[in-house]
Amino acid sequence: MSTPQTSEIVARCQALYEDLNFTAAREWKEAEPGRKVIGFMPIYIPREIIHAAGMLPLGILGGGDQLEVIHGDAYYQSYICRIPRSTIELGVSGRLDFVDGMLFPSICDVIRNLSGMWKVMFPGVYSKYFDVPQNYEDEVGGRFYVNEMAEFRRDLEEMAGRKITDDDLRRSIGLYNRNRRLIRELYALRARTPWKAPAAEVYLVVRAGLVLPVEEHSALLEQYIAAAEAEDRPIRDNCRIVLTGMFCEQPPLNLIKSLELAGCYIVDDDLLLVTRWLIDDVPLDGDPLHNLSQAFLHQSESTAAKYEPDQEEKGKFLVRAVKRTGAEGVIFAAPSFCDPALLDRPMLQNVLTRANIPFIAFKYAENSGQMQPIREQAGTFADSIKLWSAA
Ligand code: SF4
Repeated sequence: MSTPQTSEIVARCQALYEDLNFTAAREWKEAEPGRKVIGFMPIYIPREIIHAAGMLPLGILGGGDQLEVIHGDAYYQSYICRIPRSTIELGVSGRLDFVDGMLFPSICDVIRNLSGMWKVMFPGVYSKYFDVPQNYEDEVGGRFYVNEMAEFRRDLEEMAGRKITDDDLRRSIGLYNRNRRLIRELYALRARTPWKAPAAEVYLVVRAGLVLPVEEHSALLEQYIAAAEAEDRPIRDNCRIVLTGMFCEQPPLNLIKSLELAGCYIVDDDLLLVTRWLIDDVPLDGDPLHNLSQAFLHQSESTAAKYEPDQEEKGKFLVRAVKRTGAEGVIFAAPSFCDPALLDRPMLQNVLTRANIPFIAFKYAENSGQMQPIREQAGTFADSIKLWSAA
């Protein structure tokens, strides 16, 4: 069988991205009786446990720029981010009627409130506010997190009508380890040769993993990496930047494309954090829940979305990302009204100022349509980096 071209792979991923009826997940569920789908909101969920139960973890990232929010606005005030409103819209419009459970990972009060609303609005659906540790000591946060995961495992066992064994979990962890390795490989390829793997393509290919079974997504990643490496594409005179600050509401695809068209190669980002939260393999021997907990505490990047108790460490992840990828600047892009991102930003900017790394900042909504101001701002930033580095 011939290897597909990048354009074929990206077209498939784009179709998955645009499909707000989640046809691929519906078909997966219908393929065998008794299958169940568990939706999850950003930012981090141990998808391995859902997979080990024989269920499909389905990432729900709001409605993007294609969904008109009609009912969702009635449930929330206007001065919060858009993702809870568009997620409600997905729910009340029946687009999630095949989803058997919804997880709301702890990231901010908006998501916490949404988890309560979901319980009231969809009483027949398993709904859980999924707490992750805010304390990184093994005996405190570590033990708490193992208990959280054990409770979740029991809930899924009840839904599945069978036990989830440690070996089931190990097998799933192995599959997700492989998936994360491939995504790291893809990011490394883009950092080395960003013209071969444009950021919008990388985004679509990684995002497909939120709706496809992990085995299928890993095969797709392998195909894209091979095709991207083999393809010749023109090199542009772009500067290299790190894109950061996204939290859960994702920017429109056009925004990512606009940054590259404006002269900025994105060589690292914190989009779709669930896919790269753990930065190393989770060990397969020993107690799997303990291993997942240890990985969360000690093998995760200190992005703005993770609580960082060590003030000296705050923001250093950005300096490391700039050095690792040879970036020349940082673009902060945060969802409008996202308190966690916007409150963190000044602290991160101070760290960059001290490290002499240039940056710019703006806000977006998942349905932002006007890209001209962002293109102008990013284009000026790229020009200033080139002039500044040539001086
Ligand atoms: S985008 Fe920000 S404010 Fe909105 S739900 Fe996510 S973390 Fe909360």
